Amino acid sequence: MTVQCCKCKRLRALDQWSAPLPALLQGDVSHTYCPDCADHTYIELFSAQASKSTEREALFLRDQIALFA
Ligand SMILES: [Zn+2]
Repeated sequence: MTVQCCKCKRLRALDQWSAPLPALLQGDVSHTYCPDCADHTYIELFSAQASKSTEREALFLRDQIALFA
């Protein structure tokens, strides 16, 4: 199965994130966040509610979520 970052569209192959080459987009495509976009997205998400959580909490939660990604 092909794994694609839903934000930057890069593709994961052999644990490496590479440019979105159409030739690699075959069969089923599963969407997730690459590590870079995951960082940005979680920080954006949690800083949007900064009064409720700190960046440290956001990073902790991100690490917890990454365990299940
Ligand atoms: Zn990405």
